[in-house]
Amino acid sequence: MSNFKYKRNQLYCEAVPLKQIAESAGTPVYIYSYQSLVGRYKELKQAFASAHPLICFSVKANSNLTICKVLSEQGAGLDIVSGGELYRAKKIKVDPKKIVFAGAGKTEEEIREAIKAKILLINAESEQEVEEIDRIAGELGRKIRVGLRINPDVPGGGHRYIQTAKEENKFGISLKEAKELFLKKEKFSHLNICGIHFHLGSQITTPQPFVRALKKIVPLIQELKKKGVEISYLDIGGGFFGVANKFARAILPLVKGLEINPVRSKSRFMGTAPAEHQGTSNGVKLILEPGRFLTAESGILLTKVLYIKKREEGKRFIIVDAGMNDFIRPALYNAYHEVIPVVRKPLNPQPSTLSDVVGPVCESGDFFAKDRNLPLLKSGDFLAVMESGAYGFVMASNYNSRPRPAEILVKEDKFYLIRERERYRDLIRGELTMEGSPP
Ligand SMILES: *Cc1c(COP(=O)(O)O)cnc(C)c1O
Repeated sequence: MSNFKYKRNQLYCEAVPLKQIAESAGTPVYIYSYQSLVGRYKELKQAFASAHPLICFSVKANSNLTICKVLSEQGAGLDIVSGGELYRAKKIKVDPKKIVFAGAGKTEEEIREAIKAKILLINAESEQEVEEIDRIAGELGRKIRVGLRINPDVPGGGHRYIQTAKEENKFGISLKEAKELFLKKEKFSHLNICGIHFHLGSQITTPQPFVRALKKIVPLIQELKKKGVEISYLDIGGGFFGVANKFARAILPLVKGLEINPVRSKSRFMGTAPAEHQGTSNGVKLILEPGRFLTAESGILLTKVLYIKKREEGKRFIIVDAGMNDFIRPALYNAYHEVIPVVRKPLNPQPSTLSDVVGPVCESGDFFAKDRNLPLLKSGDFLAVMESGAYGFVMASNYNSRPRPAEILVKEDKFYLIRERERYRDLIRGELTMEGSPP
């Protein structure tokens, strides 16, 4: 259920009118609903309850420390893809035994930091990386759990840029390679290669790709078990979007045979964090890595109308104060986002005309909406770009020397500034003259 709703023709986030936030914090500004974040987490947890999965929020979807902390307080772990995200995780003191680390190009430094932090699982994406992790762990005199990211060669996801599990993509290793690696795992004396990971892509709205991937991977786990190789973690990635139950209903029966939800975590360790389960011969721990699922609908981008430009054919351009540097998804993925006015006219139906909503950046790709029927707006009106809580602020840049927007978290009738709007001086921080001094 959305927490962005009209009341008396005013758009609210929870119990706060968005207009009030715009007037106090300025625009453009990202606004998130606490109830939505927590609600989405609970929905997912409930849908998969019978398997007691470890739910690792994919930090790259929205890395704001307060957002990560809200989810972590609910029991979520984190799915990280860089040393920078590990740094964030440490800042908010997330239990390292709830952190999993993916990425096709981890550097030596990042691997070292992850081993030192004693995270739950490094998900490796090639044999060379496995060797590298083994070498670094050896140097540090540590042992680390490793999962192998398998590329199941299954299409999934929206735009082709966000499909990640076809053979032609750079991610993961083949099932065959994975099997060979598992069978010679003793060769890597500083590793416990005990996990299987896959991540199919983003914006997957039906469970089918997961079903297809699991139908390839579950038999592999069973075959490995017969050969004496125990898999302790099955990490099925993120990318699912929509209703949690729909995915749970399709996925859970497929993993049932793996002794998921082991007795140990049910009885003796009842009530402890899911990651307490270290898993050797106690069945398989299921891990989920939702990003968009948790935060997309929990956030919007609020922007102000600057100018209205009318073309002769009747079409209008609504020029707003947010640009592709603030929110790049429409430009990058041709993503569709609903754009709605923050204050509606008390008329039904609303009079409207065909409009493009565009930003101030010097690029024709700088748009949020094309050919939409939008109400008649004027300068100073506010618009909400909906479902912008995932891959929104995190992809913002300073292109055109535009300071990045502020971020606000709403909880009930209060709102909290969780990131200050950048200032001009932030734009030049770290820049140096040829003499090596600040300009
Ligand atoms: C991006 C990513 C996710 C999250 O994807 P969503 O579409 O936001 O759910 C999960 N796992 C990995 C490895 C990723 O790269």
